[in-house]
Formats: sequence, C-alpha cells, structure tokens
Amino acid sequence: MWSLILSGNTDFLRTSGSKTLKIYKEIGVTYLSETRAYVNGLCREVEPWQLIIVTFVTTLLAVWLYEFLFQSESLYSRFKKQFFRILRKLPFIGAQIQRQLNKAVDDMADAMLTLKDGMGYVKALPAKGLEQAKVLEKAKEYSSLGEVRWDNGKVSGAVYSGEERLTQLFLKIYAEFAWSNPLHPDVFPGVRKMEAEIVRMACTLFNGGPEACGAVTSGGTESILMACKAYRDLAFEKGIKHPEILAPISAHAAFDKAAHYFGMKLVHIPLDKRTMQVDVKAMKRAISKNTAMLVCSTPQFPHGIIDPIEDVAKLAVKYQIPLHVDACLGGFLIVFMEKAGFPLQPFDFGVKGVTSISADTHKYGYAPKGSSVILYSSKKYRRYQFFVAPDWQGGIYASPTIAGSRPGGIIAACWATMMHIGEDGYVKATRKIIETARWIDAELRKMKHIFVFGKPQVSVIAIGSNSFDIFRLSNSLAAKGWNLNSMQFPSSIHICITLQHLKPGVTAQFVKDVRESVAEIMKDPGAKTTGMGAIYGMAQSIPDRSMVTEVSRAFLDCLYNTDTISRNKHFNGSPVHH
Ligand SMILES: *Cc1c(COP(=O)(O)O)cnc(C)c1O
Repeated sequence: MWSLILSGNTDFLRTSGSKTLKIYKEIGVTYLSETRAYVNGLCREVEPWQLIIVTFVTTLLAVWLYEFLFQSESLYSRFKKQFFRILRKLPFIGAQIQRQLNKAVDDMADAMLTLKDGMGYVKALPAKGLEQAKVLEKAKEYSSLGEVRWDNGKVSGAVYSGEERLTQLFLKIYAEFAWSNPLHPDVFPGVRKMEAEIVRMACTLFNGGPEACGAVTSGGTESILMACKAYRDLAFEKGIKHPEILAPISAHAAFDKAAHYFGMKLVHIPLDKRTMQVDVKAMKRAISKNTAMLVCSTPQFPHGIIDPIEDVAKLAVKYQIPLHVDACLGGFLIVFMEKAGFPLQPFDFGVKGVTSISADTHKYGYAPKGSSVILYSSKKYRRYQFFVAPDWQGGIYASPTIAGSRPGGIIAACWATMMHIGEDGYVKATRKIIETARWIDAELRKMKHIFVFGKPQVSVIAIGSNSFDIFRLSNSLAAKGWNLNSMQFPSSIHICITLQHLKPGVTAQFVKDVRESVAEIMKDPGAKTTGMGAIYGMAQSIPDRSMVTEVSRAFLDCLYNTDTISRNKHFNGSPVHH
C-alpha cells in the first residue's frame, strides 16, 4: 500500500468514499501489524520480568517529570531560587551575604524599635488590674508615640476621613453594639439586619440586579480572598485541577495572597506601558483551560488607573470565565463620580461579564477600619464562598466568610457611617476629592523632569522621572513632612487624595514642595539616593528575591518585638557600628 502511494499512483483516492475508508483501514492494519512485529522482534531477547520493571520505572519517571515541569510556580522561578540557595551555601560568598543581611535587619530594627527614653514594654498582665483612669492615661502615651502626624493632610491614603463628627458617631454606635456578634443572629438580629442592609445598599450602588448579593468582610484583602476562593471552588466543580487567576501585574497583592492561601496559580498580565492599563490582548493569550477567573481594578493601587473593564468583560463572556472587579480602593468614589460631574466608562454589574466586585467601606466609605464588602452578580457564585461543616460536634457550622465570630460593633459603625453620610454626602466628598486630584495632576504635568503615569481618573496620582531617581523626590518630600507611597517595577511614588488633603492650603503646599524639591534635585540629577529611598531602590535591584523576603520577614518579626532597644544599644547588646 505504501509503495502504491509512493509510486504516485493515486487513482485509488478518486474511488468512492466507502472504498477510500476501506483502504485507510487496510493501511492502518498493515501499519499496526508491522509495528507489532518490529517491537516484538526488539523484545525477543528480553525476559518478562525485565519488561515489567522497565515499564514500572518509565511510568514513575514520566509522572515525576510531569510533576517537576508543571507546578504552580514556573520552572524558571524555581531554578532561580535553587541557584541562589546554592550560592548562599557557598563558604565565602554565603557568609558575606549573611553578614549583609544581618546588617540590613539590624539597621531596620534600630530604626523601627527605638523607644523614647525611659519607655519599656509590658510583658505580663498587671498583677492587679489598673483603674480605668490609669488605663486611659497609659493609652495616651501609646497614641502619641508616632512622629508622623496623619491629621495635618501630609499623609497619602491611610486615613480617608478622620472627621471629628464621624468619630463621635463611631463611639456611640460602637458602645451600643460592642458585645454583638453576627455569628449569633438569633441573639443579635439587629446586626444581621445591618449587615444585610450594607450589602444591599452596596449592590444598589454598583447597579446589581435582584439576584445580586454579597457579604461584609473585615477588609479589602478578605473580600478578594473570598472571591478567589469562590471561583477556585467553581473551577474545581468544572473539573479544573489547577485553577489560575489572571490578574494585571498592577493588581493588589491580596491576589498573590489568595493564590498562596488557596493553592491557585497567579498569572500576571503585563500593562500597556503608556496607559498603565492591563494589556487586554495579553490577557486573552493567557486564557487557558485552567483559567478560573479574570481580574481588573477600578482603579489599581500603584498608579490609580482604571483597567479597561468592558474589553476584559467581553473576554469573560466569550470564554465563560468569572470576572472580578477590584474596586476596594476606589469603589466608594467611582459609584458617585457621575453624579459628582466626572462620568466614567461603565465598570459595575451593568457591564455583562462582571460577576463580582470588592469595595472597601473602610476606605472611601469612611467607615472605621475592619470593614469591606464583596458583591456577586448572582447567588450562584456566592454559594461557593460559603463554608459549611455539617458534622461538627459543636453543631452544624455555617460561616459566610473567613472569620467565625465577627465584630458586630464594626459592622454597626459601618452601617451608621453609610446612613449618616448618605448619597448627598458621598457625592459631595467625591466631587471635592476628584477636583483636588485633577488639580494636582494638572499642576504636576506643568513641571519639567517629572511625569504622571497614564491618565489617572480617580484619587491616586503616581509620579515618575526620566531625569533622576524618583526616590530622591520622596526623600526630599519626606524631609518636608510628606508621607507618600513608594512603588517598584517601575520606580514611582504616589499620593492618594483623601478628605485630609482638603484642609486649607494643603494641596498648594504639596505642589509647591514638589516644585522646589525637583528644582533642588536637578542641581545634581545624578547624585546618589540616600535613606529610605536608597533602600527601595536597592530592594528592587536584588536579583535574589528570597533575600528581600527574608528581610521582610525580619520586619514582621520586629512588629512583635518587646525587647527594649535604647538609643545607644542594639537589641542583642552589641555596640552600634555606624
Ligand atoms: C486597599 C486595597 C485593597 C485591599 O486592602 P485592605 O488593606 O485589605 O483593605 C485591594 N485592592 C486595592 C486596589 C486596594 O487599594
């Protein structure tokens, strides 16, 4: 048969369909039997036990190789890690690296943990409880410990309102609900009603239909964790064994955390370098049979840019993948922007394909820290978020979010804030914040040697420079009392406008300080960066990211430190070596 084809005699191809099929079958049979004869010939000398062993070992090897190659962490990343692990075990280089690392950690501890003279740590319960007046007096020491003042309008983000009248409301409402816990809706039906109403009000703000639903969580991170958990379980149900999150590289680190906690793979999608929006074509290319969810931000934290929601939503619809919109930061601004006179492209449940939205009540919702909402377009998604342990000895246990017991007082304060501010209050606050942000944006664009990333539409404005190291600007502004955020890959700094910045003179001062700082820096644009700025720059340039992780872990250790470091001593007792 093969010779027939090779000889060019293809008459048989012109014969009828069934005949062709028969010929193909013949070819197949011949080919199979020839292969069989060939393989049997090869194995003639081999004993059966050898065949069994070889098959067994080959199968094991194949499985091992597959598992080695296809892990949630890429081969390249694992290779890099192993390389540096070995490097750090080498006798001379390893010790050298360790010394550098120790010094970095010591310097950090020194900077972070130095207490005012005469101060110490409490390490055990007071043997006899203190009078309330005494406790309050002591607490004053703690609240005045910081040197950065958040209430002078010089801190980026962090405190979104700080208004005294709201504080008074928090106090009264917290007192009313201090002991409540939504885990016991039978005991605290009022808090249950409040939580349900917070969710419903938020659904209405984001244009949710009658099926829209959600939950109150402890913050943006938990809201994002919940969405990822829900979509992971949905993916599992569809038979996806290794669910992937496709998120812009600018998406909040909470998605990294979710991937880490829930055993998912996070695939970072690059940005369009000009607009700083996610590259939708790259997002499309990254979609695979493992994709469990797509992510967009409105806006993203680093540069305050809104991703192209409608374009990504089209992908979500076409490939039937859930789309989470992270509106943690800007949620309670963007829903009021149209009414405030700054219309945006559609971003909410009105866009077909958007299946969930996270929005932080504790940011521009102006509620106290510890509250956020996660919303879904339909209950068919939220059910995957819920956890039920039907067989627990303590009773059938059903819990909507990560926490078991939850602070009813915080939920009550969140509800009270939303009720008190109302639509008119939010629209007014939004108008002022956006006006301020747009004014700063315009002023910064007038300056030479710095640039604004993309076209920020909400409250965050990120600054970069092609003339000098931008971290010198953050240093210089820090010396003038400003506390901005530093970003990496690429280096930039940003200011997140809050109600604090509306205090008289604050923004004009900011623009003036930036202008003066840039002028000062440009006297010697190539000068070396010092202080915190240098640390940010250096941290980006370290190829071994495990070192950055290690120093960061030491930072976290420092948070729980209760060993006194006096101004002249290291915590380990060795003399200071500056
Ligand atoms: C703040 C923020 C979050 C969540 O942060 P939390 O600190 O957990 O409230 C998520 N996404 C963006 C874009 C944010 O700015």
